[in-house]
Amino acid sequence: MAESIVSKRMDAIESSGIRRIFELAKSLSDPVNLGIGEPDFDVPEALKNSVIDAVKEKCGKYTASAGDKELIRKVEAKLAKENGIRQGKTMITAGVSGGLFLAFNAILDPGDEIIIPDPYFVIYKQIANFIGAKPVYVPIDLDFDELSRKVSSRTKAIIINSPNNPTGKVYGRDVMEKVADFANEHDLIVISDEIYERFIYDKEHFSIGSIYDKTITLNGLSKSHAIPGWRLGYANGPDEVIDAMTKLQQYTFVCAPTITQKACIHSFDIDISRHVNDYKKKRDMIYKGLKENFEVEKPDGAFYIYPKAPNGNGMKFVEEAIKNNVLIVPGNVFSESNTHFRISFAASDETIRKGIDILKRIARN
Ligand code: PLP
Repeated sequence: MAESIVSKRMDAIESSGIRRIFELAKSLSDPVNLGIGEPDFDVPEALKNSVIDAVKEKCGKYTASAGDKELIRKVEAKLAKENGIRQGKTMITAGVSGGLFLAFNAILDPGDEIIIPDPYFVIYKQIANFIGAKPVYVPIDLDFDELSRKVSSRTKAIIINSPNNPTGKVYGRDVMEKVADFANEHDLIVISDEIYERFIYDKEHFSIGSIYDKTITLNGLSKSHAIPGWRLGYANGPDEVIDAMTKLQQYTFVCAPTITQKACIHSFDIDISRHVNDYKKKRDMIYKGLKENFEVEKPDGAFYIYPKAPNGNGMKFVEEAIKNNVLIVPGNVFSESNTHFRISFAASDETIRKGIDILKRIARN
């Protein structure tokens, strides 16, 4: 039999489960779509204008691999002022996904282990597997005795995602201090994915990079500024790591899109609090609508809620929901177990209301 023309390395990763669900749902003509992982509001007007200005300037060139210098200075000022991060180096990445790919490759060798709280954002597992590193899962409500038991001589890093996709869970300063102590004790690098930083409803966002130097902080504008297609992220971390990530960027992404970088230089002053207030109301509406019929925690941040499927089988429940015209995502896309499902409330109030009614009806049957 002829050998596959595709590399063996590709066998280590799977296509995104979210895309698979969207395939399943293709037959629906006008679904109640609660599956989407991007904001439903439009790009802020000021940013639209900045991109037009950027186009009129000389914007067709490459930037330096680490990114546009002025933008880096703006990001550093933001990190110092809002996150208390004043050390290390900063680079611009092609979204947080680009930053994750570079960071994982820069610090993990085949056989190294990375601790991933479960449920997790899909990319972490797949990039670790792609590299030949081993994901080690721990429950998202971090139990530090259990975490210590999971550490081996190959453990290199732990990833923290607060606010979390898919649960909306936010770790307060108290938990972050424990993570920092744990990482320090076992000499681990912390990768902190803070992409939902702005979407936080009751608690305060806390950046672990402000208290633990061996942190790679990843963030970007995909969610906060509703520009996931523009590919703008940034990474801050120890000089050695950012230098390695920049070296790899030279041969992969080359640089984040120049137009986007130029347009985003003044984006950090744009106020999106109106949208965050809207999402807080949507969070309250969906939690109130579901809590009688589902076992569910109130999310503190992001724009997702993660109920347990009534029959304990997330995939079955999602199939049933799709038959009833509602698009949601099964928990096994984000987890080693298949007990929950994810709802995105980045949708109109009317869509959310319709979704709640249908999901409740399914749960009662
Ligand atoms: N990290 C988390 C937790 C996410 O949910 C997402 C997107 O859904 C990303 C990273 C990717 O973001 P970007 O569009 O900046 O690559």
